[in-house]
Amino acid sequence: MNKNQSSKAALRENEGVSEQESTNKNAISNLKRKRQEQPSVEKLLNGILKSNATALSRGITLIESQNLSHKAKANALIEKCLEHTKPSIRIGITGVPGVGKSTYIEALGNHLTNLGSKVAVLAVDPSSSLSKGSILGDKTRMDTLVRNPNAFIRPSAARESLGGVARHTREAITLCEAAGYDVILIETVGVGQSETSVHSMVDFFLLLKLAGAGDELQGIKRGIIEMADAIIINKADGANKNAAKLAMLEFNRALHLHPAKASSWMPKVMMCSALESEGIDESWTLIKDYVSLTKSEGYFNTKRQEQNIFWLIQSIENQLKDEFFKDPKITKEMECQIALINSNKRSPFAAAEYLLNLHKTRS
Ligand code: GDP
Repeated sequence: MNKNQSSKAALRENEGVSEQESTNKNAISNLKRKRQEQPSVEKLLNGILKSNATALSRGITLIESQNLSHKAKANALIEKCLEHTKPSIRIGITGVPGVGKSTYIEALGNHLTNLGSKVAVLAVDPSSSLSKGSILGDKTRMDTLVRNPNAFIRPSAARESLGGVARHTREAITLCEAAGYDVILIETVGVGQSETSVHSMVDFFLLLKLAGAGDELQGIKRGIIEMADAIIINKADGANKNAAKLAMLEFNRALHLHPAKASSWMPKVMMCSALESEGIDESWTLIKDYVSLTKSEGYFNTKRQEQNIFWLIQSIENQLKDEFFKDPKITKEMECQIALINSNKRSPFAAAEYLLNLHKTRS
C-alpha cells in the first residue's frame, strides 16, 4: 500500500506516536512534585488576593497541616490576609442531618451569587473527626453551587479533633474574606459542641427545623434555641405546609420565653422550601435586617471583638493543656498521683498543685 492510498483508507494505522502528555510518566511525576512543592507565603497571598480558588484551597490546606514546620508559615499567611479582609457577613447554619442544610445553602448561595455576592461555604463537622467522611465531603450534595464560579466550597479536614476543625475553620474565614468572599456560610450538624464553636465565629446563627406532629420542641437542646437568631422551618411545601405553619406558631411562642439577647434583635421564625427555592429571598432579607440593626447599634462589631477574645483565650487554654499533658515529667508522674488519690493519701487538689509545680520546674 502506498502512502496516498493509506491516508484515504477508512481503516488505517498511524505510525507510533509518543505517549500523550497526561499519561507520560515524566509529566505525572512533575505534576506530583509541583503539587507537593509548598508555594511561598507571598505567592499564596497574591493568589488569594486575586480570588484564585486554587491558592485559597492551598492556603487552607497549609492552615490545616499537622506538620509543625508549616505552622509559622500558616500564621504568617493568616496575618497577611488579616490586613486585606473585606467586609463580610458570617452565617452559621445548623440542624439535624436530613433537615435540608445543603439544599438550603445551595439555594441561598445561588441566590446570593445572582445578586452579585461571592459566597464561601465552610463546615465544622464533628463526624469528620470520627470517620473520614465530612458533611460537605460529598460535593454532589451541592452540585450547582460547586460549579458556580462565585462560590467556594470547602469541607472540614477529616481525622481532626472538633477543636482543631473549629480553629481551622475560624482561620479559613480570614482567608476567604481576603479572597473577597463577602458571605461566609458555615454549616454544622446539631451534635455535641459544634454549634457552640460555630456560634462563636459567626454574626448570625440560623437553626433549620422540620415541622413534626406538634411536638417540635421536644428533643431540641435548649441552648441551641437560645443561640438562634432565626429559626427556619424547612420543607414547607406540598402536604407539609400546614404543619409548618403550626410549627412556626409553636417556635414563636417558645422564643418569647427565652431571655432577651444582648442586641435589641428579636429572633424570628419563618418557613421556607429550600427544594423549591421558596422563602430563600425572605430569609436573606431577614439576615440583612439583622445586620443593619446590629451595625446601627454597634453590636455587630462588639460581638466580633468579643469573639476574637474568645478565640484568644481558647487557644491559650488549648496550648497550655497540650503542653502540660505532653510533658514527659507529667505523663510519668500522673499515674503515681492517681494511685495516691485512690488510696486516700492525697487530695485531687493537692495532686493537681504538685503536678502543676512539677510542670513549671525546668527539667
Ligand atoms: P442535610 O443533611 O441537612 O444537609 O439535608 P439535605 O439538604 O441533604 O436534604 C435531605 C433531603 O431532604 C434531600 O432528599 C432533599 O432533597 C430533601 N429536602 C431538602 N429541602 C427540602 C425542601 O424544602 N422540601 C422537600 N420536600 N424536601 C427537601
